[in-house]
Amino acid sequence: MNQIKDNIEEIEARIQAAVERSGRKREDVLLLAVSKTIEVERIKEAVNCQLTSLGENKVQEIMDKYDAMGGEVQWHLIGHLQTNKVKYIIDKVTLIHSVDSLKLAQEIDKRAAQKGVTANILIEVNVADEQSKFGVRPEDTQKLVEEISHLKNVCVKGLMTVAPYVENPEENRQYFRRMYQLLVDINAKNMNNINMTTLSMGMTGDFEVAIEEGATIVRVGTGIFGERYYPNE
Ligand SMILES: *Cc1c(COP(=O)(O)O)cnc(C)c1O
Repeated sequence: MNQIKDNIEEIEARIQAAVERSGRKREDVLLLAVSKTIEVERIKEAVNCQLTSLGENKVQEIMDKYDAMGGEVQWHLIGHLQTNKVKYIIDKVTLIHSVDSLKLAQEIDKRAAQKGVTANILIEVNVADEQSKFGVRPEDTQKLVEEISHLKNVCVKGLMTVAPYVENPEENRQYFRRMYQLLVDINAKNMNNINMTTLSMGMTGDFEVAIEEGATIVRVGTGIFGERYYPNE
């Protein structure tokens, strides 16, 4: 009867099994409900099932849904962010997953300072070096983290990746493993103000493998809300 509730229960069971397989704890993994294209009424069904962390890939959608969803939810921006739009969401989001340039980080720093807040961010890594994807290359990540570490109103919490679309999730294990190693290696440099603990990786098709390799946030859309419908495409 209640499809969203059933879907969440199924995803929860699979998360639980994956954390047990890898000797981790359930509370170490956040299930981020990716609500892009989903209308407020249906998002509220997920919130009623205790899923209060919501991921959107467009600034406009966060602004459209922000008031209607109220203060009990935490918004995460998971899609590409243009510098000219930072000002609209700087005081609305808990975590920006998609920072991939110093220029963007500087704009976030400036807007955060104006609002008197610290902006929590992740660095988006294009781990498989795909032409079509945003994100820094793995080999350029440490340098970007170092540059951003000097910004006073930005805190780098960790790394994020959108892994390739694959039929068999095992094919992405190598990339998730590389992300984990990258995080460990950068932390080992002991940079000032850098202690990264967040790894945002894994989606509907591959979140279990991502958890086994150390994900602390999995971003699940289709698995919760069903197939997305894009009215304008
Ligand atoms: C849409 C999206 C997701 C969720 O994808 P599903 O396959 O529907 O789970 C996760 N991360 C990002 C960055 C997205 O844009």
